[in-house]
Amino acid sequence: MFGRIPSFDFRALGAGLLHLMYPCLCVACGDDLPAGKSCFCFSCRLKLEPTGMHLQEENDFTHRLWGQLPVVHGASMYYFTRKSPIQRALHQLKYHNKPEVGIKLGREMGYLLAQSPYYRDIEVVVPVPLHPRKEQLRGYNQSAMFAEGISEVLGIPFDVRSLARKIYSESQTKKKRLDRFVNVETSFEVTRPSAFTGRHILLVDDVLTTGATLESCGQTILAVQGARLSLATIAIAV
Ligand SMILES: [Zn+2]
Repeated sequence: MFGRIPSFDFRALGAGLLHLMYPCLCVACGDDLPAGKSCFCFSCRLKLEPTGMHLQEENDFTHRLWGQLPVVHGASMYYFTRKSPIQRALHQLKYHNKPEVGIKLGREMGYLLAQSPYYRDIEVVVPVPLHPRKEQLRGYNQSAMFAEGISEVLGIPFDVRSLARKIYSESQTKKKRLDRFVNVETSFEVTRPSAFTGRHILLVDDVLTTGATLESCGQTILAVQGARLSLATIAIAV
């Protein structure tokens, strides 16, 4: 008497409507993407070089900081090469007012770290602070966007208030520059040590190049009692 009520996939309809309102775009070329976890379109993904570092106990990342910074683990998602989709994505993130690119890449990193045995006891994600003047100009800190995406997927907090870049007055800067062993650009301070005491901290940045910034930032964090450190970046320069 009663026919079977046709089943209707409301979730698919919701996702479809959401996609119409907020289309998913490739973070490198801006092409339309099907809704899902991917940040890159098929053609950009083919040109990417994933590192697989999140599953390797030792890798190019940990070797670069060898003897300079004692870390639990370190990983980048992609190799950074000129004109690669990852260079284009980072350009969008830093110079084209696209904070969402950082959040999407952070989510992708979060999915990788969730599969890794080395990041299981991470308690807080901390971005490398940007110089306040730069952050004001850009409107956001790109590393904080990356941290937000990771934190969302791993379900752990991210903290942008406990670590700061040291600001020098002009006279202090001149004095410091005379001392060639002090790198004025990369001085940091922990403003709320209790946030890091006895914790495993994931410090994140956009690109690992020489490692000088992460080293300086990491040493500052490790000076807090009982703090342990792991590192993650979107890309590693080769
Ligand atoms: Zn693309």
